[in-house]
Amino acid sequence: MSEAARVEDCLFCKIIDGQVPSSKVFEDDMVYAFNDIEPKAEVHVLVVPKHHYANVAQVAASDHELLAHMVEVAQQIAQDKADGQFRLIFNTGEQAGQSVFHAHGHVLAGSKTASIPMAD
Ligand code: AMP
Ligand code: ZN
Repeated sequence: MSEAARVEDCLFCKIIDGQVPSSKVFEDDMVYAFNDIEPKAEVHVLVVPKHHYANVAQVAASDHELLAHMVEVAQQIAQDKADGQFRLIFNTGEQAGQSVFHAHGHVLAGSKTASIPMAD
């Protein structure tokens, strides 16, 4: 990743750079997707833009194509790993449950996905 796009001490920038290990699910020039370390569903994958944005609202404000691509990648992951149905959750702000301040969508899929609580 270019220095400009990278933020020091950001966990997901380090995962994208390979400095912190992850279980990769998908990668292209715009996004990196990997299994959540604490899965809440049969399929629980994080779709992360390679460029550092603090949250999904910043992605939306800066790059519509990237935001649409994150949804397309989520759909593809749900298709590959489950039956194509999925929930896509963007916790935005600490009060809303965001703990890593690099934008990411939680792709939740599999048989019992609908019964997962919205928050712990
Ligand atoms: P959020 O609370 O929406 O910011 O989501 C952050 C997610 O990152 C949580 O679901 C964590 O389980 C997940 N997470 C934290 N550290 C790692 C890691 N090293 N590898 C994979 N997932 C992680
Ligand atoms: Zn980052």
